[in-house]
Amino acid sequence: MLKTNWHTHTKRCGHAIGTDEEYVLAAIQGGVKTLGFSDHAPYKEPNPGSRMNIEEYGDYKKSIRSLKEKYSDQISIHLGLEVEYYPDQWEELSLYRKELDYLILGQHEITYNGISAYHIDKGDDLLDYVKAIEAACEHSLCDYIAHPDVALWRYPGIDGSVKEAAKRIAEISSFYNMPVELNCGSGVLHGPKTYTDGTRYAYPTRLFFGEFAKKGCPVIIGLDIHKPELFLTDKYLDRALSVVEGLNCNIIYDYDLITAAKERKKKFY
Ligand SMILES: [Zn+2]
Ligand SMILES: [Zn+2]
Repeated sequence: MLKTNWHTHTKRCGHAIGTDEEYVLAAIQGGVKTLGFSDHAPYKEPNPGSRMNIEEYGDYKKSIRSLKEKYSDQISIHLGLEVEYYPDQWEELSLYRKELDYLILGQHEITYNGISAYHIDKGDDLLDYVKAIEAACEHSLCDYIAHPDVALWRYPGIDGSVKEAAKRIAEISSFYNMPVELNCGSGVLHGPKTYTDGTRYAYPTRLFFGEFAKKGCPVIIGLDIHKPELFLTDKYLDRALSVVEGLNCNIIYDYDLITAAKERKKKFY
């Protein structure tokens, strides 16, 4: 069981279930000591089913902060969001950066309302996805890179562009000392899929984590929870760990993301 999880959603995003309090109670029951909420950030236009509505942001902050107080003797709760690097949503992103404890980067689209990371099937798009991640790190927008290999969801298979993307993200992580996430969400939840290089989970991918291991990149495990009961099983954590078995990844189980975030926020621009 993990004692720290920074990647937790709420039902506001439209594809998670349960009350905020049910997440907290399940986390406590599952042995979590440090719990970060990082629901999908709202932007200017509503996107029901994918992210919370901007009108719900106030309630999100209020609810998580009140649970933080209520359960402070049992669990340490922190308030964040999962954001994308979208230059045309900088007003919202700056506000989140300023007032929240931390932000994680889940680059689900290359650009705002652009190509979905789940639909990428061309090398050029994959490298544009990498550029967005690099820009987020350069601006100190985020405190870790969630599912860095999510763009392989529909990508036909490991080829030269994938190898290049893995290498570049490892270089970015190493250069900015930006942790990368070993994600226990959709990639392993949906089970193995067939690609041109064989049958495997869409992500995490051994190729990416091999590059991260070579560079000594800090790795944080993220459960990417969309259902409270998932705090009570190690099934998906074990699947994610099986992918990187024997790679000597620099997994940091008790990474102090909040202290790191304070430093990064000073460099945000
Ligand atoms: Zn989600
Ligand atoms: Zn997520």
